[in-house]
Amino acid sequence: MTDYVIPDPEPKEIDEKLSLELRYLAQNAVLKGKPSGAEKCENCVYYLENTADLSYCWHPKLRILVGAQWWCQWWEELGEAQ
Ligand code: SF4
Repeated sequence: MTDYVIPDPEPKEIDEKLSLELRYLAQNAVLKGKPSGAEKCENCVYYLENTADLSYCWHPKLRILVGAQWWCQWWEELGEAQ
């Protein structure tokens, strides 16, 4: 048996960088963690997997993981074909 103690998890420099980028994206995109009326990521054309609670947003200005109940200014209605 070893005396090694697993250290408490701590964010690394890359996490802080990504967090800052997400904050900028959120500010620029008016990205909100809640729907705007009936508009939300899960019924947006850019939400990759419409049955998932979390999915990838492929909008060219975002390209990040978002929640089904989130919303941003670039919301676009899903077409009938999708
Ligand atoms: S464009 Fe906006 S509303 Fe549409 S999936 Fe991406 S973050 Fe959500």
